[in-house]
Amino acid sequence: MARQDIAVIGAGIGGLSAALALARRGYSVHVYEQATALGEIGAGIHMSPNGMKVLTALGLGDALAAVAARPQAISTRHYQTGMPNFEGPLDAAFEARFGAPFYSFHRADLHAALASAVAALPSVSITLNARAERFDEDATGVTLFFANGSHTRAPVVIAADGVHSRMRSALHGEVGVRFTGHVAYRGMVATSALAPGLVEPKLNIWVGPEKHFVAYPVRRGELINYVAIVEEAGWQDESWTTKADKDTLAQAFAGWHPTVCALIDYTLTGECYKWALLGRDALARWSSERVTILGDAAHPMVPYVAQGAVMAVEDAWVLAACLASAATPAAGLLAYEDARRERTSAVQAAAWEQGRLNHAVGRDAEGDQFKGGRLADPSWIYGYDAVALFPAIPAPGL
Ligand code: FAD
Repeated sequence: MARQDIAVIGAGIGGLSAALALARRGYSVHVYEQATALGEIGAGIHMSPNGMKVLTALGLGDALAAVAARPQAISTRHYQTGMPNFEGPLDAAFEARFGAPFYSFHRADLHAALASAVAALPSVSITLNARAERFDEDATGVTLFFANGSHTRAPVVIAADGVHSRMRSALHGEVGVRFTGHVAYRGMVATSALAPGLVEPKLNIWVGPEKHFVAYPVRRGELINYVAIVEEAGWQDESWTTKADKDTLAQAFAGWHPTVCALIDYTLTGECYKWALLGRDALARWSSERVTILGDAAHPMVPYVAQGAVMAVEDAWVLAACLASAATPAAGLLAYEDARRERTSAVQAAAWEQGRLNHAVGRDAEGDQFKGGRLADPSWIYGYDAVALFPAIPAPGL
């Protein structure tokens, strides 16, 4: 097999997963990341069994088990009384049913595990401070141009450059964007700062009128991550680094369950952030002959079913398998998007619908009736097994 470099743009969860999956199939990979250092922001992230099956196959099972928190259930509760009105197990029986655990991570821990696995592979290299701006594609390869004036050439380019992907725009123009009307506030609190047992080892969701509040342990239970969703018109900035005013958040959740108020109260000043939740239409095509998109670049979604990064990880495995078993790059990229478009579009739609359900019940009902609707049955999401569908048999590729 010709071991030519594949260029991956973006060293996020999707890009690093793609680098690992491609290396596993025998490719050498060069990752270009715009940031000056590898890393992730201080937020929580869930990885459901469908993602964990891939990460385990990529050799990360033990490293991730060592830093994960393991929620025992997803539990939705009344916003004032805290009375549970829905509980779905995420326990050992759930793991047995879906073939892998459901984990909650500090994003930096998940990213560090991926980065350290990549660093151990001589066939993967990373260039930092490399912001890809545009590309020219011809019959023999792709020339990538960077913001610092440099350029490089590769036979295939995988763009995992996130929700604001420049490569997606270059390939497909702008996609339709809809604001949910929801803004996600987030923060993290040390568990040791809280009263013992204040936050149950679950994915806890308090649902009330026009808001909901999600809190769960990460990093072996040492930290509690929260995301507070508020209906808020007007402000539409998508960024992990926009600071929010903790007092404004406290006012928005005044009168909510004491656990919710305590988590906001214990957030360190300057450590509360906000992100406007925008949905984007699914794309009809992803790839050219030698360039494709992966993760949020391909199918950005609102976070209500916690599947954006999970889909990126699934993409990575399937892409590497499709490229490795195809006669030409174009055939491999086409097989990849054919295998992924329908599923990721369905998850994008499910996420949008879950966002509507989260607040619809609360807004319509009175008194104790706030429930927060759940999607009927997410087993089609968790039950998908990319590794079984695309077994790890290296095959001739480029
Ligand atoms: P990114 O994580 O955005 O990574 C893109 C990388 O590319 C970055 O490193 C960036 O610096 C780099 N880059 C960008 N442009 C360029 C360029 N031009 N040149 C070079 N490098 C570039 N998903 C889940 O699965 N589970 C969850 O629980 C979950 N919770 C979420 C909660 C919130 C509030 C939000 C907003 C999202 C959540 N998601 C969750 C979604 C998840 O964060 C994303 O789907 C995931 O980060 C996508 O990974 P990615 O690698 O495709 O993109």
